[in-house]
Amino acid sequence: MTAFIDLHIHTTASDGSDSPFQVVEKAHLLGLQAIGITDHDTVHGVAEALEAGSRIGIEVVPGVEISCQWKRRSIHLLGYYFDLENPGISRLLEGMRRGRTQRLPKMLAKLRQLGIDIDRKEVEAEAKGEAIGRPHLAQIMVRRGYVSSFEEAFEKYLGYGRPAYAQRPRPTIAEGVQTILDAEGLPIIAHPLTIDAPIREVLQDICPMGLQGVEHLYPYQYLSGRSQEWYDSVPRRLAHLKQLAEQYDLVLSGGSDYHGTIEGKAPLGSAQVPYEILQGLQDRYQDLFGHLPNSA
Ligand code: AMP
Ligand code: FE
Ligand code: FE
Ligand code: ZN
Repeated sequence: MTAFIDLHIHTTASDGSDSPFQVVEKAHLLGLQAIGITDHDTVHGVAEALEAGSRIGIEVVPGVEISCQWKRRSIHLLGYYFDLENPGISRLLEGMRRGRTQRLPKMLAKLRQLGIDIDRKEVEAEAKGEAIGRPHLAQIMVRRGYVSSFEEAFEKYLGYGRPAYAQRPRPTIAEGVQTILDAEGLPIIAHPLTIDAPIREVLQDICPMGLQGVEHLYPYQYLSGRSQEWYDSVPRRLAHLKQLAEQYDLVLSGGSDYHGTIEGKAPLGSAQVPYEILQGLQDRYQDLFGHLPNSA
């Protein structure tokens, strides 16, 4: 029987609604064999998950998701198995969380001008952790009836280029890849089909920087706001991605991008990732760094 895993999961440490412990419990109920904790810009959920995982009997892969800049576009970069104490990556993540905190009052001021009055304290309470995100704002806007859905909050106000959008500083993709490698981690591009550029062009540019993999199994059907044509093109583009991954010697990864009840609707485990995928990551890690990752 194939064992399944899920290597892309958010917790209350960033914009997920389940605590790391709850994620481990739910993964256990689903019979998942391994899970990767990949919060935005923080690893503060990892320790709790590792502890619960070892108690309950689920392999927990430490990770993170970092929004990087590539040619004025945004690329989400996953990092796995890096040294959680590494000063370089800790500094980078800390800077990104500061960028989030500093962006918040700018967005709140813009919302206020649009007649939407949300207090900073309310968002901080909603966020629980230190990685305050637009999804937290969107949640509050839905609850208060300013919008009728999470998606509408992004479409009308919070999305890129919308009236309450404010930029936060992002590292370049080169910097993101190098920082993860320097911390002995595997840099892997998240949900590559969401990048607004031909995937061949993306990989041509980024592989020489030291990219190690791409997320291949991902439940794109749960993303909102794309055209039917876009959804229909997913299988063809995934086949192409797999070819390119072979050509560029990239490992294939996979995960659901689970956020609990916040944002998106992909259920835990919905990417249907077989355990062999994790074996592939661990083999690559050993090739690259000469030893197995600590938590493997
Ligand atoms: P932030 O990290 O605060 O910049 O917010 C980014 C998060 O918001 C990501 O997790 C995205 O999945 C989510 N997001 C961004 N754009 C949209 C959108 N148009 N609709 C729904 N969610 C979005
Ligand atoms: Fe998110
Ligand atoms: Fe992402
Ligand atoms: Zn994610």
